[in-house]
Amino acid sequence: ISTSGLVHIYRSQGHDVAALSGIGITVPPGELVGLLGPSGAGKSTLLQLCGGLLTPSAGRLQIGEHNLATMTEAELDRMRAGDVGIVLQGAGRNLIPYLSPEDNVRFAQRAASRDRTLPEPLEVLNLVGLGDQARTPLTALTPGQIQLCAVAVGIATSPGLLLADEPTSQLDHRARDEVIAAISAINAATGMTVLLITHDPEVAAVLPRTITIRDGRIASEGRAGEEFAVV
Ligand code: ADP
Ligand code: ADP
Repeated sequence: ISTSGLVHIYRSQGHDVAALSGIGITVPPGELVGLLGPSGAGKSTLLQLCGGLLTPSAGRLQIGEHNLATMTEAELDRMRAGDVGIVLQGAGRNLIPYLSPEDNVRFAQRAASRDRTLPEPLEVLNLVGLGDQARTPLTALTPGQIQLCAVAVGIATSPGLLLADEPTSQLDHRARDEVIAAISAINAATGMTVLLITHDPEVAAVLPRTITIRDGRIASEGRAGEEFAVV
């Protein structure tokens, strides 16, 4: 991810809301980065821009070889169908509850473009530690296991970038730690780049690098729990 002067303005009931007012960040391939900041800071907006779900109002936004400021809808569709994976808060909202993890992963893979080489669903589930539950319907899994399944679905196409928006916000501490451990393990094993939004200081403390945004601007950046204000 590489951005400079990234601006996003929502047009809401006749007036403009500047959600991002000039964001410059660089996340090299293979990094795991936490995105922190108070509610309304612009975290979700930045994540959605990186995923091609919103279009920048101004500035530069590069994701791998894609320049998102100039991409056509068709090119964005292709990127969303394989190059970028997304995990949202709220365990399982984007899963099919009466299917098993294996079938949920398989279903997610059907949306991927034909020219991609797809991993075996079981291989993906082993990566998140859900191999033993591969054939158990989601209705029989715990909230933590369901969120692990959501992570597996997010990486079903082996994307180069995983975007996670508060993936642990509705979990107890044990399940939270398992989900963060799974995301860290994926990052370490595959070199997948990860951008992860969290409100949880205990999660932020275990991430190798964090970026804090406030009022649509970078407030501070740091490595391994130590943040430095950006002047
Ligand atoms: P969070 O703080 O967890 O990111 P928010 O409460 O800011 O969540 O936003 C929840 C949803 O409401 C998002 O889909 C966001 O796009 C939408 N939203 C937030 N603020 C506004 C607004 N002023 N007008 C319309 N939609 C909004
Ligand atoms: P965060 O994820 O840090 O809570 P968001 O990116 O959701 O922040 O929101 C940043 C700002 O943009 C907030 O002021 C929010 O109200 C506003 N916003 C978010 N989504 C919308 C939307 N769909 N329409 C209008 N304003 C929005």
